[in-house]
Amino acid sequence: MQKLLLLPLMLSVLAAQQPSTRDMAEINWMEFHEWVPLKITTVLLPTGTLEAHGVENNGADITAPVEIARRMAARVNAMIAPVVPYGVTGSLDAYAGSFSIGEKAYRAYMSDVLEGLARQGFRNIIVLNGHGGPQTAILNELAEDVGRTHHVRTLVVNWWAYCSDVTLKTFGEDGGHAGWNETAFIQAIDPKLVHKERYSDALAMPRPAAGSWSAYPFHRRSFSINRARATCVSTRTRRTRICAA
Ligand SMILES: [Zn+2]
Repeated sequence: MQKLLLLPLMLSVLAAQQPSTRDMAEINWMEFHEWVPLKITTVLLPTGTLEAHGVENNGADITAPVEIARRMAARVNAMIAPVVPYGVTGSLDAYAGSFSIGEKAYRAYMSDVLEGLARQGFRNIIVLNGHGGPQTAILNELAEDVGRTHHVRTLVVNWWAYCSDVTLKTFGEDGGHAGWNETAFIQAIDPKLVHKERYSDALAMPRPAAGSWSAYPFHRRSFSINRARATCVSTRTRRTRICAA
């Protein structure tokens, strides 16, 4: 009973222990100084890119990690750094609305962003990455370098790979670019971002086996010669579908 009476007091103390916002773009410098690194030592940095995602929004790789950061920040007592929306897109940059940053510029920019977070006093820098391919390798390397140089802990998480077991359990096969997992996740965040009425099976194709073929732009029309071969690799274990255009 006594505990129940104390509950409002405990809740108000708890509220006082929260910053007015966990968004680094919304907080002012005075409040930031009061919280980091004294009471908050972790930062979440969402990274993505703009690229064609079938019937999903071109910014699906931004939408997903931003939402993950929003949902987990309070639970892990972290601040949220502004998303880095542009990334290293790769062969899908030929599609309308897609965008790619050259590796050299991306590397230099991201290195400064990560170093800046370390200099602010964050001891744990968690990169929530929404886009794979060469971007993951670059981020892994940079995060390790910054961790070593600034004596901070860094973690790069590719959300779709991290929850691969859930995708397998739910859909019976793994996901892929604009595949089961990504489409379901974007629908859960905002159903308006997925235009089911535009979907057709012609948009989807199996991911090619490593080293089998590569095309630019990445589209099934680009590999009609290889179609028979591509069909061959569409086995149960490789049925991960990617949906480009
Ligand atoms: Zn994606």
